[in-house]
Amino acid sequence: MTRAHSSSRTIAAKVCFIIVFGTFWQTAARAQNQQPKPAPLPFANEPQSPAQLENFPAHLLEELSSIKAAALSDDYAYRQVAHLTENIGPRCSGSPQAKAAVDYVAAELRQLGLDVQLEEVKVPHWVRGAETAELTEYAGQAAGTAQKIVLAALGGSTSTPAEGTTADVVVVHNFGELKSLGREKITGKIVLFNEIFDKQKAAGGMAFIAYGEAVRYRGAGPKAAADLGAVAALVRSVGSADFRLPHTGFSAPAGIPAGAVTAEDADLIADLSLQGKVRMHLTLTPQKLPDVTSYNVIADLKGSEHPEQVVVVSGHLDSWDLGTGAIDDGAGVVVAMEAAEILQKLHLRPKRTLRVIAWMDEENGGSGSQAYTKDHSAQFPNHVAAIESDAGAAHPLGFDVRMNPHAAELLRPVLGVLESFGANAVEPTSYPPGADIAAMSEAGVPALGILQDGRTYFHYHHTAADTLDKIVPAELRENAAAMAVMGYALASMKVPLPR
Ligand SMILES: [Zn+2]
Repeated sequence: MTRAHSSSRTIAAKVCFIIVFGTFWQTAARAQNQQPKPAPLPFANEPQSPAQLENFPAHLLEELSSIKAAALSDDYAYRQVAHLTENIGPRCSGSPQAKAAVDYVAAELRQLGLDVQLEEVKVPHWVRGAETAELTEYAGQAAGTAQKIVLAALGGSTSTPAEGTTADVVVVHNFGELKSLGREKITGKIVLFNEIFDKQKAAGGMAFIAYGEAVRYRGAGPKAAADLGAVAALVRSVGSADFRLPHTGFSAPAGIPAGAVTAEDADLIADLSLQGKVRMHLTLTPQKLPDVTSYNVIADLKGSEHPEQVVVVSGHLDSWDLGTGAIDDGAGVVVAMEAAEILQKLHLRPKRTLRVIAWMDEENGGSGSQAYTKDHSAQFPNHVAAIESDAGAAHPLGFDVRMNPHAAELLRPVLGVLESFGANAVEPTSYPPGADIAAMSEAGVPALGILQDGRTYFHYHHTAADTLDKIVPAELRENAAAMAVMGYALASMKVPLPR
């Protein structure tokens, strides 16, 4: 989740994507972790109201149970994510792999019998180049040596000269410190933002809060440094593990080269800078190529009674380029695909249209969701609910929901179905629970995000280690079950959720 936005009010929270306004960042850490929390919903085993019973009659609850059972023993989603990650590979916006992924997902959904449209999106095309750095001057340096620094360019970074650039490094810990140093001490320097990711928060189940605290430096730091004359900006990687892996991600256009160093290398630079001058030779040579025409994949399983009413089930098809986009967010796309696959296999037709969306360009600008909003906002009153899964593939605990509290209350019978594998928590949020469904949520569409166990998500997020092996097949099946059960429930309950 991450990106710049001109709206003064929208707060979209995303894992991979941030929305910036003006000079100040507000990160939408997912509300699952926010304090104070709204009162939790009563759980499923409590008595059900007449409205709940009417909305979910016994035959519908039986259908939901059969969908759950089918999903918990289905390997469709895993086979799909294996193909997306191992056969197609990284799917950065504008890349040949992103194009192949669009064609592949569209063909698979057609094969399921869905009505598939490719809806055009202009996406940025940024391509990683060389990325190396060495410390060339520091206290205690052995003659004739340099210290290697491990890093990766941030999305949208500009290039150094091919032979690199050499400058002194200034380490700051926050925007206030940068500002107090001022133009005189920043001009001509490489600025390193050394904000430390709060691993204890992540380990304690507040991973998205920790992410939100740290990621604002990745998002806005390079621009802030550029505004004071820095020649390049680096950030400490936003992540929770110490495997000397850099974490890439979106950064607001700054007009200077920008990269993420590993946590270990940030510590090294910070330690040495306390002992004296630190000078770095930095080479980052990414290229921004012309925008490319790409697509959101939109696939409808038409409703039997109200085809004009739509329930969206979705994930984003693009990924970063370092890994193969397994947990971010191949997993989200394939569990949405499986929701349709299960219904077709069981010959269940929802009352309303179930719309599978594989979003393009969540990571590098959000142009896919913007295009959908432009093309479909007139139909948002008939979008009865939207679900996105974009927080990994780990065991689902339930859903983040942003909706009328009365609407959330009506879902209690569905939680009863999900309770057997623990996906029955409902956390009301004040933020849209998914980047790509943020505009719908802002327009009043009841919005849900699958709430995964996030304790290890940021070990791998936006790194070269976001690969298929990080997905546990049994946990992916649980996610598919959560998506399919909730999607079908929303599409077949008697009356749509109140807004
Ligand atoms: Zn994502």
